[in-house]
Amino acid sequence: MKCPFCNHPESKVVDSRLGKDKETIRRRRECLSCQKRFTTSERTEDSLPLVVKKDGRRETFNPIKIFNGLKKACEKRPISIDMIEKIVNRIEVYLQEKGEREVKSSEIGERVMEELHRLDGVAYVRFASVYRQFKDIQEFMDELKELLGNKEDTKKQSPSSKHP
Ligand SMILES: [Zn+2]
Repeated sequence: MKCPFCNHPESKVVDSRLGKDKETIRRRRECLSCQKRFTTSERTEDSLPLVVKKDGRRETFNPIKIFNGLKKACEKRPISIDMIEKIVNRIEVYLQEKGEREVKSSEIGERVMEELHRLDGVAYVRFASVYRQFKDIQEFMDELKELLGNKEDTKKQSPSSKHP
């Protein structure tokens, strides 16, 4: 991502937001050479590391998937879309700063959990009880969508009955 002012090839991400179409990400970047800031619109998969799933498969990190999963899980909680976007944003910036080409899905999962813990106890517990059984954020998000799509009677199954 070359700087439009001085053509320097490296910049850092200072902020990012989902585009209106939810398929692109608008990033605020700062040039590492001249320190000027500029905005880019990028496809999500272009600049983020691959996620290594627990079975060893790799897939592109998809912030939109995490955004949608969080949005669904935070339903009926006092959490704004803006707050959810900020969580996704922080995770993305973290991954970019880490600068590695691959990242374990469990690590992303832990980051999401930490953020939620700070934000909302109920949403955190709701997430944690399900997430711990998966250890894989993508799989977890898929499952969560189905869980929340079901009626309330899924609550009868105690989420705290973990096997050691
Ligand atoms: Zn520059």
